[in-house]
Amino acid sequence: MKKPSQLRAKKHLSQNFLTDKNIINKIIRSFNLEKNDHVIEIGPGYGSMTFPILEIVDSVDVIEVDKNLVEYLNQHNQDGLVNVIQADALEFDFTTLKKKRKIRLIGNLPYHISTPLLFHLLGFSELFQDFHVMVQKEVADRMVSIHNNKTYGRLSVAIQSRCDAYKILDIKPGAFHPKPQVLSSIVKLVPKASLGAELHFKLDRIIKMAFNQRRKKIRNSLNELFETEVIMNCGIDPNARAENLSVDDYIKLSEIKRQEE
Ligand code: SAH
Repeated sequence: MKKPSQLRAKKHLSQNFLTDKNIINKIIRSFNLEKNDHVIEIGPGYGSMTFPILEIVDSVDVIEVDKNLVEYLNQHNQDGLVNVIQADALEFDFTTLKKKRKIRLIGNLPYHISTPLLFHLLGFSELFQDFHVMVQKEVADRMVSIHNNKTYGRLSVAIQSRCDAYKILDIKPGAFHPKPQVLSSIVKLVPKASLGAELHFKLDRIIKMAFNQRRKKIRNSLNELFETEVIMNCGIDPNARAENLSVDDYIKLSEIKRQEE
């Protein structure tokens, strides 16, 4: 492993490498990995998490876009336990790595693409046992936020309608080189039984409309989609605002839309 002072970082790829050994160990312990687990890591960088993980599990698949890092990993992979795949995670088809055991996905996600990447990953939810992703704390707070909070929004409902979401750890900038400007957090996501693509399509449309006008009463922001009476029949106060509706409320509204169309 290179010393922190030798690490070269590319800003446009959100490269902030974990260098604090204690924090790395704490993070890896929080994954609760077992020897036979099928681990896929996104954005391994110089392998600051990958190599310690190999002390627990037999092998790891890693997806890294940076050619130089792919070369570095291949050179330091003497036992051949790291399956290095050079690819853009945003476009990667995870079914190509499918095995009998479900995937434990981990990654210190590139922060500039964390939200679209999360959505890409959620599309493969049925392949994953769980995800442990590191994101900016501000994004983590939105992912796990419940209704009646300022941080509750589209991302919260989109994630929590698909997964149980827990924030596990906050990590200070000092654990990385170079230091990011922001605090980071690890979020654990455990996929729930799928509601189906059709319902998610409706749900995504409803939450987009509701949260684009989050100060408006729901009966106004959603008036193109629902009569006030229909909202009331779902047990939802039509005078409430987007942030006052629970994830289940949004699911109920999506189900009505499905029955109608
Ligand atoms: N996990 C390492 C590195 C984190 S930095 C550590 O904690 O030290 C983010 C990593 O994601 C970098 O290695 C960067 O090159 C990689 N990356 C950035 N965009 C990517 C993409 N689209 N697909 C795959 N990897 C990407």
